[in-house]
Order: sequence, then C-alpha cells, then structure tokens
Amino acid sequence: MKKIIEFIPFHLLKQLSNDIMLIVPFYHSVTDAPGIHLKNLYKVKTETIFEKDINFLLKHYQPVSLLDVKNHINGSKPLTKKSFLLTFDDGLRECYDVIYPTLKKQGIPAVFFINTGFVDNKELFYRFKTSLLIENLKTSSNSLKKEISIKYFNKTFSSDTTLVNELLSINYNNKQLLDNIALTTNTDFNHYLNQYKPFMSLSMIKELYENNFDIGSHSVDHPDFSILDDKQKIWQIKNSIEYLKENNVFSNVLSFPFADYFIKQDFYNFIFSETKLDLCFGTSGLKKENDKRIIQRINFEKDTTLAKHIFKEKISKYFIKSLIKKNITDRT
Ligand SMILES: [Zn+2]
Repeated sequence: MKKIIEFIPFHLLKQLSNDIMLIVPFYHSVTDAPGIHLKNLYKVKTETIFEKDINFLLKHYQPVSLLDVKNHINGSKPLTKKSFLLTFDDGLRECYDVIYPTLKKQGIPAVFFINTGFVDNKELFYRFKTSLLIENLKTSSNSLKKEISIKYFNKTFSSDTTLVNELLSINYNNKQLLDNIALTTNTDFNHYLNQYKPFMSLSMIKELYENNFDIGSHSVDHPDFSILDDKQKIWQIKNSIEYLKENNVFSNVLSFPFADYFIKQDFYNFIFSETKLDLCFGTSGLKKENDKRIIQRINFEKDTTLAKHIFKEKISKYFIKSLIKKNITDRT
C-alpha cells in the first residue's frame, strides 16, 4: 500500500481530501542537535528537513493565521483556498531559537502551545526525565541496572529493552518513581534543567506574541488527560489559561497534551462555556469533528520522514475511513 501511494503524485492524492479546507500540522521542536530530554522519546526534524516541509506546504496550501482559522470556523470569513496552520507543542527552547526566526523571515504564522508549569525552566516534563534516565542507563553497569529492576519494578529484566520499555511506561500518576530512580542512578534533573534550559522563558514567549505569533495553552504540566479525573482536568486547563492571561500572551486556544480522542462532548461543552475558549486542538490526524470548535492536527514530526510522505499516507487513510464513515470522531 505504502509503495503504491509513493508513486501517486501529490496533486492527485490531494483530491481525495477535497472536503478538507484546512490542515493543521504539529511539531514539537526543530533542531540539528536534539537534547537528551528528547533523544529517547521521538525523532525531531532537522532544520533542512523542516524547510523542505515548509516548501512542500507552501506549494500546495496557503499559510493562514489563527485569526483566519477562527473567522473560518465562526463563518464570518470562510477560507476560499486550501490552507495550513502551523502549530508547535510543549513550549520548547527551539521554538524561539530556530522555528521563530525561520517563520518570521518567511512571514508564516504559527501557534505555540505552552505548558505553563515549565515556562522559565521551572520544572522538567516527566517524559523528559524518562529520556534522561534511559540515556544514563546506556552507560550504567549491569549491577546498577539489576538494582533498579528489583528495587523499582520488583523483577529482573531479561534485556535492557525491557527495562527501557518499563521506564517509558511510567505515567503521570506514578511520575514520582522517576525522581526515585534518578537518586539511585545519580541523574540530576535540576542540573540538566538549569544547564540546558529546554523550555522557553516568559520573555521569549512574550517576544513571539508581540511579533504576531499566537500562544495557546497545553495544560500546566502535560499530564495524560485520559488518566485524570474531571477535577484535575479542569484545574490543568483553568490554571494554564489564567497564567497566560495574566501575562497578556493568550490567544484563547488550547491543545490537549498527548491526545483528546477520549474527551466526551459533555466535557468539551463544559470547558467551552467555562473558559470561553475559541478553539481546541487534538492530535488525531486527518479527522473531522461534529463540533467545529475542535480541530484535529497531523503529526508532521513522525520519524524524520518528509511531510509530503507523511501527508500522502494520512490522506489515503482518511479517504478509506471516509468510505466507512470512520473519519469523524465519536464523542458520545
Ligand atoms: Zn505535548
């Protein structure tokens, strides 16, 4: 299937998604030298590949701003050409160092979704802690690995891969385990945070906003919402919004950390009425929503593949799903 799709020119494949006016890619970072906090989690695109992605998008779609998208959704000014809106999650340092100057030079709008608990490098995202621990284990002795396995997972693992997978499966609710393991392995998260500064500072975020880029909430400290109760979910959303509003850098939008496919329409209705958010963004790829205020985005960072190839595959899947009416999120 993948092979066949490769031979089909993009402009032909694009016609299979004729009912889609807007595509919204998402990335986290763009860098030629990813930090250890990212290295063991996902592949980041290099500056050259990112530029190719942008050129591909510009060839087939017009860049639009968040305001254009809001006007399109509320019907005041519908988009007339197929368009794209760039988005970036997690408020990483490279958003300021690499992405911002690149996009500014080309006049391409973008939205940056921020975890307010990480601004100014106040705290390290628990998944980044996992990546740091995995890196440390690569040079750890077998006896240390055995000690970690028994002490924290209550078993001995047959291979390093099993231990790595076990570390990757540590979730938001048991993230304290990461700090405990760090003590055993002498991994200093605070030192890394202070030395590397993986997140943007508030002044960097303010500069982006003042230069007409949009800022949205991505929760306080990036929990997996599927394991939170409603009270915790609401706290995460309201607190992050409050912080951005207080600092006058809020564009009235939110993207859910990790995913939103499990969020029920009732909860969405509650959030929209409580917070007066204009739009919410998910990560389900090319997928339609009954509620036009919810927009799904495509992961363009999936391995180092060019956007063109990722997108070709997404369109083909979307087309097949649309035939069996599975291209719309069910929130009942
Ligand atoms: Zn995220």
